[in-house]
Amino acid sequence: MAEREVFLRVYLNEIGVHTPVSFALGDSDAVQASAEPAAAQVSGTLDELARQAASCRLCRLAEGRTQVVFGTGNPHAEIVFIGEAPGRDEDLQGEPFVGRAGKLLDKMMMAVGLDRQNVYIMNTVKCRPPNNRDPQTDEVQTCRHWFDAQLQLLSPKVICLLGRVAAQSVLESDAPLAALRGRWHDYHGIPVLVTYHPAFLLRSPDQKHRSWADLLELRRSLATTGK
Ligand code: SF4
Repeated sequence: MAEREVFLRVYLNEIGVHTPVSFALGDSDAVQASAEPAAAQVSGTLDELARQAASCRLCRLAEGRTQVVFGTGNPHAEIVFIGEAPGRDEDLQGEPFVGRAGKLLDKMMMAVGLDRQNVYIMNTVKCRPPNNRDPQTDEVQTCRHWFDAQLQLLSPKVICLLGRVAAQSVLESDAPLAALRGRWHDYHGIPVLVTYHPAFLLRSPDQKHRSWADLLELRRSLATTGK
């Protein structure tokens, strides 16, 4: 049995899913081939935007960062996952969702036939807040300069917000996660689903089956959402 399949079966057993799952998932090439060019009002490419963001000092978070963590994945992805901010590992490696939470996110995605080659992963702010505190409202608003341009260029079918902080920031809501989960939202015309942050699931593994249900809903939506 391939290592990837063993990895997936272990995760599905962990969350109590014992029936075989299969998805008519396009691989990254198929996703790329079927994607329409982004109807972006922002000019340039994602790589050009990333190069511009790399030297950004628009907010105080520039002072403590090692590097700007712009985002990673398929620029033609149908799904974009969004967390709150880079942590220590992300700040050092320059990639969102690495470390233990990132590995769990990989498992969650794999359980519904996704991986880092066919999704895009980013954060609401691109620089690590000191001591891993939550990003502050003005920092999130300032970083929207990059965030909104990035989403315009990506033009995904759906967005998945990971955790309360990202959900409240993007949706500009003070509702608790429980109230934001389980229904669809909208961000500038893009359908948005909220689920748990992998770091929370590491602390509360009994909630993994709920995140599984969220990701299944996300996959279902791809079949019905036009791009
Ligand atoms: S968090 Fe965003 S706005 Fe602030 S310095 Fe980093 S890239 Fe610029």
